[in-house]
Amino acid sequence: MIRIAYVLGAVLTLCVPRLIQASTPALAVTKHTLDNGLEVILHENHRLPFVTVEVLYRAGSGSEPPGKSGLAHLLEHMANSGGSAHIRLGGNVELIQSMGGSVEAATGLDATYYYSFAPANHLETLLWIQSERMGFLEPALTEALLTRDKASVKNERRQRVEGTPYGAIYGLAALKALQLLFPVPHPYFGNVLGSDEEIDSITLEDVKTFYLSYYCPSNASILIDGDFEASQVQDLVAKYFQGLPTCRDQPAAAVSFQAPPETERRGTVLARVNAPQVSFAWLTGPAFSTGDSELDLLSIVLGDGQGGILHKRLVSSLRIASEASCQYRAGLYSSIFKCDIVMAPSTSEDQIAREMDAIIENVRNRGPSTAELARAKARWKARIFGRMESTFARAYLINYQYRRLAGDAAHFEPDLSQHEAVTSNLVRDIAGRFLDPSKRVVVMMRPTGK
Ligand SMILES: [Zn+2]
Repeated sequence: MIRIAYVLGAVLTLCVPRLIQASTPALAVTKHTLDNGLEVILHENHRLPFVTVEVLYRAGSGSEPPGKSGLAHLLEHMANSGGSAHIRLGGNVELIQSMGGSVEAATGLDATYYYSFAPANHLETLLWIQSERMGFLEPALTEALLTRDKASVKNERRQRVEGTPYGAIYGLAALKALQLLFPVPHPYFGNVLGSDEEIDSITLEDVKTFYLSYYCPSNASILIDGDFEASQVQDLVAKYFQGLPTCRDQPAAAVSFQAPPETERRGTVLARVNAPQVSFAWLTGPAFSTGDSELDLLSIVLGDGQGGILHKRLVSSLRIASEASCQYRAGLYSSIFKCDIVMAPSTSEDQIAREMDAIIENVRNRGPSTAELARAKARWKARIFGRMESTFARAYLINYQYRRLAGDAAHFEPDLSQHEAVTSNLVRDIAGRFLDPSKRVVVMMRPTGK
C-alpha cells in the first residue's frame, strides 16, 4: 500500500502540483572533518526555529577497563552538569535552560553523547558549551563532584535495574542475560550502569584518564541539526573546536569480539515481582553486518506489540503468558536478540519453553509469512519516520545509529533499502544461522521468596 501511495503521489505531482504528496522522507546530511579529526555532521531543517547540537564520543561502557564498570556513565554525569574550567558547577545547564533550551546526555555500550537544544539564535552558545566539555573539563573534575555523582549513578542503577526488574534493556533479567552472553572480562558485562562495588572503586584518576583518552576531537562527531545556514556554521565550528588538543593515545580495548555460547547457558534471578518471567537471548553479529535488517524485522514479527507472533500465541491463544515481547539491540562488537515472556499463573517454564521452541523452529524452517513480514516493515518504517520528527531521536539516529554503528552519518537511505529488500527466505536463513536453541541464554526471573 505504501509503495502504491508513493507512485500515486508522483503521478499526481504531474497533474495537480498543489496536492499534498506522499513520499519517502529524506535525511540529507553533509559531512566534513576538521584538521584535528573532529567529524562535523550538518542537517539543515528550517521547519522550526530551533537548533540541536549533539556531540558523540566513541567511548561507552565498552571502553571501560576491567573492574571499572560504570565509569563511562559516571563521567557522563560529571561532564553533563559539572561545568568546566570557565563555567561554574551547574552553570552550563542553567544557561541553556534560561534560553528556553534543554540538555540530555546518555551512555551506551559503544558511545556517550551530549545533546543540547535551544532557539536557533543561541547556536553559538550551544557550540561554546560543547567545546568547553571537550577541551576544558579536566579542572572541573573534582573529588567533591566524584562523590556527588557516584551517589547519583548508584541511585539511577537501583531505579533502572532492581527497581525495574522487567526492563527490557537495563532490568534485572536483562542484566543477567547480558552477563551470560558477555562473560568477564568483556566490557559489555556491566551493561552501562555497572555494579555498586566497581563504581565505589573508581578513582578521580580513573575518571580523568578516561576523559583525556576519549573526549577529544578525533574520537568525536558533532551533529548540528535544525534551523541554521551551513555556510555560516562552518566558521563557528572552526572557532570553537579547531584549536582543541588532539587525543592522547587510547588504551587498547580489553576485548571486542565475543563468540556465541557453545552450549545453552542458564541463569536465575530473584526479584520483587508478582509473576515470573523467562527470557531467551542469542548473540548475533555486529550492528549493520549481515543479518542486521533481518533480525531487526524478525524482532517485530515475533515480539512487537499485540500483533507479534509471541503475543498472539502465548497470551491471546494459549493464555500461558501475560506479556511477550522481543528486542534486537545492535552493538558495535556483537548484537543481542532477546525475547521476554511474563508467565501467567499456573504456567510452567517447560510449557513456555516448548512453545517458544516451536515458534523459533518454525521461523528457522519457513521464515515469516508474507503478511507478517509486510506488517513488520510497516511498523519499522513508522518507528524510524517517527524518530525523524523528534530532535532528540533524530540526533540519536544520525549520530549514534548511523555514524557510530554503521560508520556513516548518511546511512539513512541504505538502511531503508536494506530493510525493504528483506524477504521471508532471508529471515529464515538468518534465523537458522543465529537463533540456534543450543547456543542460547535462558534467564528465569522468579518472585522473591518463591
Ligand atoms: Zn545517568
